[in-house]
Amino acid sequence: MQIITTKQDLQREVEACKSHGKSIGLVPTMGALHAGHASLVRRAVSENNVCVVSVFVNPTQFNNKEDLALYPRDLQRDAQLLESIGAHYVFAPSPEEMYTAEEMSGTFRFDFGGLDKVMEGKMRPGHFNGVVQVVSRLFYLVRPDRVYFGEKDFQQLAIIRFMVERSELAGTFGDLRIVGCPIVREESGLAMSSRNERLSEEEKATATAIYRTLRESMKWAKTQSVREVEKRVVDTINSVDGLETEYYEIVDKTTLLPTDTFSNAIGCVTVYCGKVRLIDNIQY
Ligand code: AMP
Repeated sequence: MQIITTKQDLQREVEACKSHGKSIGLVPTMGALHAGHASLVRRAVSENNVCVVSVFVNPTQFNNKEDLALYPRDLQRDAQLLESIGAHYVFAPSPEEMYTAEEMSGTFRFDFGGLDKVMEGKMRPGHFNGVVQVVSRLFYLVRPDRVYFGEKDFQQLAIIRFMVERSELAGTFGDLRIVGCPIVREESGLAMSSRNERLSEEEKATATAIYRTLRESMKWAKTQSVREVEKRVVDTINSVDGLETEYYEIVDKTTLLPTDTFSNAIGCVTVYCGKVRLIDNIQY
């Protein structure tokens, strides 16, 4: 496995692979890797000749400076994990390598066809602009055959699919396939996240109420309306000491717009556990 830090070296390596007819799988990450990331990488390794994993804490997708500063980073440990599961290249550039000063200043604007008006987009202005900025750059550099994303960040996955299939950028990345991968959880049910590293053991135990409540809500959905279930989820999570829901929205899986029925619906939640912001979702 090779660690690459410049765009030029990355392009040279992937071009050499392609000239030998090899297929390329890409897994974009922000590092502090866990079993959730590993599941994406394993799949990319098994479905492609070459697997490239990017490890880049993308400053332009953080609208909260403290969150960016506190984001866990450990490239050495990440590289060990990636090598052990068979990745071929790790791309770990500096922000200066990825962006010019102007690009870094957050002027990149992208039309999301409305997908960014709800949930994470509403709560974190500019977040998805930063995500699309970095992901599109990675796509242009690597020109992968397949790219792997987790369903844990369901809205992100929907926006990337929109970018590739329906936006003004559609068609510019070649025959790229976006592969969505299921959420990997701790035994306790807590969705794995790099941010879990910032939780104390006690908080980790507290946070298990999030998924427990989402699971319970599957039962409530049999007899109650969408809006009633939304309210009950929020009330139940908030009744736990140490948890505070930012939003729980049951939306259509395709449009991400609020829906009145449970068919093709997904419930997306964001909860503060102490100072740590956690997200999760459940498909009805
Ligand atoms: P991140 O490093 O948080 O930007 O995540 C990189 C990729 O890993 C994204 O596509 C995430 O959706 C995915 N991911 C993160 N956590 C999990 C998880 N628990 N299960 C599955 N995929 C995940």
